[in-house]
Amino acid sequence: MFSINEIREQFPVLNQQVYVKPLVYFDNAATTQKPLCVIDRERDYYLHENCNIHRGVHYLSQKATEAYEHARQTVADFIHAKEAKEIIFTRGTTESLNLLATSFEHFCIGEGDNVLITAMEHHSNLVPWQQMVQRHHGQLLVVPMDDKGVLDLNRYEELLKEGPKVVSIAHISNVLGTINPVKEMIAMAHQYGIPVVVDGAQSIAHHPIDVQDLDCDFFVFSGHKMYAPMGIGGLYGKVEWLEKLPPYQFGGEMVDTVSFEKTTFNVLPYKFEAGTPNVGAALGLETAIQFIQSLDRNEVEKHETRLLQSAIEQLSDIEGIRFIGEAAHRSGLVSFIIDGIHPYDLGTIIDKMGVAVRTGHHCAEPVMTRFGIPGTVRASFALYNTMEEVEVFVNAVKKAAMMLR
Ligand code: PLP
Repeated sequence: MFSINEIREQFPVLNQQVYVKPLVYFDNAATTQKPLCVIDRERDYYLHENCNIHRGVHYLSQKATEAYEHARQTVADFIHAKEAKEIIFTRGTTESLNLLATSFEHFCIGEGDNVLITAMEHHSNLVPWQQMVQRHHGQLLVVPMDDKGVLDLNRYEELLKEGPKVVSIAHISNVLGTINPVKEMIAMAHQYGIPVVVDGAQSIAHHPIDVQDLDCDFFVFSGHKMYAPMGIGGLYGKVEWLEKLPPYQFGGEMVDTVSFEKTTFNVLPYKFEAGTPNVGAALGLETAIQFIQSLDRNEVEKHETRLLQSAIEQLSDIEGIRFIGEAAHRSGLVSFIIDGIHPYDLGTIIDKMGVAVRTGHHCAEPVMTRFGIPGTVRASFALYNTMEEVEVFVNAVKKAAMMLR
């Protein structure tokens, strides 16, 4: 059963006033709030278990190591990886993508090689690949999208024929909410023998992920967008790829033997985890996963869809509104602009009414260029949001639009 009141009790941060108005938090695509169980887990670690891992023979170190490796197994099970060693803990999506871009560069990128992305990528899934291929006089191949924010799969197929070394695509766009047909796109890329990275930053909190079913070669995500602490996230990679790719960072933990002449590297997953990891946050991530799993995910998905549909329906009445992203298959968020009103002004005014949304380019400047706009107002939902909050938000937008006209 899905009780919104019980859920909200676990998020004390939501129960506050800003500018003497009840807070309506609709900036969940940027980061979600954290439930008490996650906060408690991290606190407990520092209260009772804090220790560096994998190194000590003593009790605390072994306990912390076991807990950290247990968290890895929980992540692996959550996204249905075959083995825990396919999960690399990172600081989040950005670090996972930088790891992959660097590692691929050393593994196989040569003069003039390309990487294929889409027109709706977050800068995190654009700049690391761009910088990497440009160092070798290659370029990004970009799958275009239509006016609704749907990718052109015919063009995708043509671009695959140009032989990019890697395909890296968002599962869900953080600006448009489009759910991309990643399973189909992965199968298409594999016909040309090209590995595929899925940026799951916006999907993992909202939809069950099965990396084996998707058959993606890599899947990257951030903990803080799925009710876990900041500073932790992950990279899933098929074992055969992780074995082949060279390490990203160097230092302690990721080595096997070291001499002044030569270093050999540790086995998976440690080969990719140089230095002391964020153990407390990894345990918080595990608890966040358990929190998500304790709920009926079907019900949660339906609830979030109802919030989205209601927001779109009510906003549609506003004169001069233009939705940015109208794909039939979409999730989690609504982006829009209103004729003659700068998104920043609108966001600033509704903030004073207690409503937290994001305004601007959402770290996806090429998407703004594509639609010929300076930015959007983006409201993004999470499982603790309510229909009443949607109403408050829509009324605030209507009021602000009137004031600004
Ligand atoms: N990719 C997408 C689709 C995102 O929405 C974000 C963050 O908003 C990122 C990547 C970067 O995530 P992080 O800043 O947690 O590394």
